[in-house]
Amino acid sequence: MKLTFLSLASGSSGNCYYLGTDTYGILIDAGIGVRTIKKTLKDYGLSFEKIIALFITHDHADHIKSAGVLGEKYNIPVYTTEEVHWGMNKNYGMTQKIYQSKRVVKKEETTILRDFKITPFEIPHDGTDNVGYYIEFGDIRFCFATDLGHITSAVTKYMSMADYLIIEANYDLEMLRHGSYPPHLKSRIIGLNGHLSNKECAEFLTSIYHERMKYIFLCHLSRDNNHPELAFKTIEYSLLQNDIRVGKDVELVALKRSHPSEIYFFE
Ligand SMILES: [Zn+2]
Ligand SMILES: [Zn+2]
Repeated sequence: MKLTFLSLASGSSGNCYYLGTDTYGILIDAGIGVRTIKKTLKDYGLSFEKIIALFITHDHADHIKSAGVLGEKYNIPVYTTEEVHWGMNKNYGMTQKIYQSKRVVKKEETTILRDFKITPFEIPHDGTDNVGYYIEFGDIRFCFATDLGHITSAVTKYMSMADYLIIEANYDLEMLRHGSYPPHLKSRIIGLNGHLSNKECAEFLTSIYHERMKYIFLCHLSRDNNHPELAFKTIEYSLLQNDIRVGKDVELVALKRSHPSEIYFFE
């Protein structure tokens, strides 16, 4: 079985990721407009009509902008925890509220959706509630964790099981420290319920690396406090210090912020 992966957008201006089989697909987060989602899928030969579900990580605007429209206008079921649903429907960033398309998942409980087994797990962040997703598809084990304040035992548990990982590498600490953000925002980002730095991400990935691991995608890179090359180099260097060679032992990709990624096939 083959799984198609595409990052439509990644970062604080919008997040949306596609995972698909030969016949249908799912989206994780919908922080960009429906028109952009449709156009991007089409550009890559993927079908918007064959999206069977949308999974939401948390209720910040950069993850939910078009969730209501996808659910209510296009009848795509919207899956997330009860608390995230509540937070989304109170968020002004999502003008269309979710009613009939609402589907509830629980942390640590696996939802089976055709060929996918999807398990949400707790993520420390400052949304109303926050989850990552561990997704099994045949032998493929995929794990997604974004907007990740710090590494917890739940994050370690699910990320360690995965062969394909998407993980936040939000900021470079020095860039953030010397950057123009106001002090309260800097503290929020660095805080335990904020975002993950390149260095934290690097140390974590190095600590959980195993031989089955195939791909690491770095997501949600800050526009102001990070560079794709810097995030890549920081993680590559940390892995190499432990004899893990990028390009040989594992593939590493820093996802673009406002442009779609290449299309990837997992098997
Ligand atoms: Zn975000
Ligand atoms: Zn967030």
